[in-house]
Amino acid sequence: MKSGPRVLLAGRMMPALEARLRADYELASLVEQADSGAFLAAQGGTFDALVTSAVYGASAERIAQLPNLKMISSFGVGLDRLDLAAARARGIAVGYTPDVLNDCVADLGIALMLDVARRVSEADRFVRRGAWAVPGQASFPLGRKVSRARLGIVGLGRIGQTIAKRATGFEMDIRYHSRRPVADAPWRHEPALVELARWADYLIVITAGGAGTRHLVNTEVLDALGPDGFLINVARGSVVDEAALVKALVERRIAGAGLDVFDSEPNVPPALFELENVVLLPHVASATRETRQAMADRVVDNLAAFFAGRALLSAAPLP
Ligand code: NDP
Repeated sequence: MKSGPRVLLAGRMMPALEARLRADYELASLVEQADSGAFLAAQGGTFDALVTSAVYGASAERIAQLPNLKMISSFGVGLDRLDLAAARARGIAVGYTPDVLNDCVADLGIALMLDVARRVSEADRFVRRGAWAVPGQASFPLGRKVSRARLGIVGLGRIGQTIAKRATGFEMDIRYHSRRPVADAPWRHEPALVELARWADYLIVITAGGAGTRHLVNTEVLDALGPDGFLINVARGSVVDEAALVKALVERRIAGAGLDVFDSEPNVPPALFELENVVLLPHVASATRETRQAMADRVVDNLAAFFAGRALLSAAPLP
């Protein structure tokens, strides 16, 4: 039996990541326990570290169940489900995986924009159901142009800036909204989101999630985007008022939407299944072999750095 640090896994992770953690640490997985509450009551005090993800998070309650916890290593960049205040109050270090996923999340944001504008998924469905080959069939409806169109980016952080660079290749006219202008960014800052939406043909949402951005995109913003505007969300479902979005789509008050994230995943509002002008993805923006491997490496490296007494490679900003 290993005598090193004891690590608790909050949920199922990539098998290769679980195997690496098992090789290096004494590992227990919460999902393998028949009664996780009883398990934590009996053994919660034995764990030095928690490996979790942006989806599983670490609530104040979970942190309290682990009275000797010293380190949280999270797979993902989203911090909205990690109770950083509770971690800070206990002096617990928190590692996460920013930057290594910028490329793939940005790529997917661009992919959703192209898909919904050029009706890629809709055209695929058209071909698969045999509609193309039906004699006398009306031609497939026209899409909308992306190159040289106006792109509004909501949140010009690590990923937002990567999206902007991609969009520059499409010669898009780019502006962005965030609470503070980004120093040296070549794109125009728009302090009022509703004005950015009014101006934009495409609005890509890539802010942080959590209480500070909840329902930032509301009815007023959607109506400013208008019947020719498209909404793309690769941030968090909570950033968009989902009921307002569904209503705007059903009533054709916006042109379409590309969504990787939802309010209550994996539940997607069924009304969206009926709409051709909506592309729905199961939260896969970072899901490539290369990026998921890099994220797993960072989870392991943050943990190893902590137990070697070194600075984390990427420490979450504590409040
Ligand atoms: P950053 O922290 O680098 O950027 C966040 C941006 O959001 C900043 O520009 C910030 O600017 C802006 N922002 C924060 N609060 C507000 C607000 N109230 N109003 C307007 N803008 C705000 O994060 P990343 O770019 O690394 O990641 C962004 C988010 O993307 C993550 O938090 C995560 O939730 C999501 N994500 C989703 C993935 C997916 O699978 N779909 C994968 C990876 C990330 P300022 O502070 O000036 O307002």
